[in-house]
Amino acid sequence: MKQTLLFIPTLRDTPKEAEVISHKILLRGGYIRQLAAGIYTYLPLAYRIIKKIENIIREELDAIGCSELLMPTMQPKDIWEESGRWQNYGKELIRLQDRHERDFCLGPTHEEVITTVVRDYLSTYKRFPLALYQIQTKFRDEFRPRFGLMRGREFIMKDLYTFHTTEEDLDHWYLKVRQAYQNIFARLGIYYKIVSADSGNIGGKESEEFMALCEIGEDTIVYSEESDFASNTELCDLPVGAPSPDGKGTIKHAKGIEVGHIFKLGINYSEPMKAIFVDQDQVQRPIIMGCYGIGISRLLMAILEQHAEEDKVVWPSEVTPFQIHIIPLEKERTAAYEFAEKLYEKLNKDYEVLFDDRNERAGVKFNDADLIGINHRIIVGRKAAEGIFEYKRLADDYTKELSSFDELIELLKE
Ligand code: ATP
Ligand code: MG
Repeated sequence: MKQTLLFIPTLRDTPKEAEVISHKILLRGGYIRQLAAGIYTYLPLAYRIIKKIENIIREELDAIGCSELLMPTMQPKDIWEESGRWQNYGKELIRLQDRHERDFCLGPTHEEVITTVVRDYLSTYKRFPLALYQIQTKFRDEFRPRFGLMRGREFIMKDLYTFHTTEEDLDHWYLKVRQAYQNIFARLGIYYKIVSADSGNIGGKESEEFMALCEIGEDTIVYSEESDFASNTELCDLPVGAPSPDGKGTIKHAKGIEVGHIFKLGINYSEPMKAIFVDQDQVQRPIIMGCYGIGISRLLMAILEQHAEEDKVVWPSEVTPFQIHIIPLEKERTAAYEFAEKLYEKLNKDYEVLFDDRNERAGVKFNDADLIGINHRIIVGRKAAEGIFEYKRLADDYTKELSSFDELIELLKE
């Protein structure tokens, strides 16, 4: 991709509203643009990353037998009355009326819709288990939208719902999804802890959150360094230094960003919404459910908080917007530019390459490249006349002068 054709409106100065590093990079690097409080456009660079995050999630969920669908955003009031949440959800629910004055809301989550979608089909035990997910824009009128994509009023979420005839089968799937989440967050390059959590507005009996560890996190985690014990302080607040409840080690505190949440819903929705199946003994029972979310747009912030400094980032390899960044230091119709363009044409066959074909000073190009954060960088300057160019790997600050294409390919394969 030629950089002049990609819309990356970088800024020289940091806008005042950005308080945290991730938000500063997203604005300065031309990744997002705010339309209203908590409502953003994902510009091409951010959207490339989002699509990669989405595809990692798809791969891992499809691998355990989940299938993807897409439900409506606009949801009629009656199904929310069936579940009892039209009253309970409160002001976060964005409500609206159609021209006939019928009430609707914009989905903050989809338990009601998915339950109505499957309840007739899942009338017999023979059709279980079932695992359905979607990747969709959610709406929540958050009281205090903040930190850019962290707490938006419109944001992208992956939500998965599973359906079972027994508690044992729910437990089994819960662990399968939990493992898939571990694979997903590892591939995304996220450092996280899994903590016991409060089920909040969604309800249910057991739930865990995936917390990306970082200073600006809104949640506080209590954990033991010597065991897997970890909990959100909303659920279990223990002071630093207290003995861990499992008897192993002492309590420490950390800040975290909630990037995923998995719940055993049980019959919380199926019972009020009359989602019933007939079991092997011809007895009618409510369907047992699980639900599992991942905050996709919020993940962009979490990854940045863990992989960026004040004015530069190195995106983890599986989500990088491009794999290679080629930067000629001289303008068009120079030996350096033409050499760089040839490299671009060759590499572009096998890699995702961004070619900085702009007529800008080297300083401007490098500043922008640091904000774009592509790990493998090729810099082509005067020495191109002798066939020499520079390779730079940002992650470990490795640089090398190269004089052959094969040498470059070797380094890229490492
Ligand atoms: P929070 O406690 O942060 O408000 P939640 O517990 O209400 O989140 P869930 O209903 O569990 O959120 O939603 C699933 C996931 O969606 C969360 O783990 C989070 O990553 C993401 N998410 C929730 N609210 C927002 C938001 N306002 N903006 C961006 N992502 C969000
Ligand atoms: Mg949650």
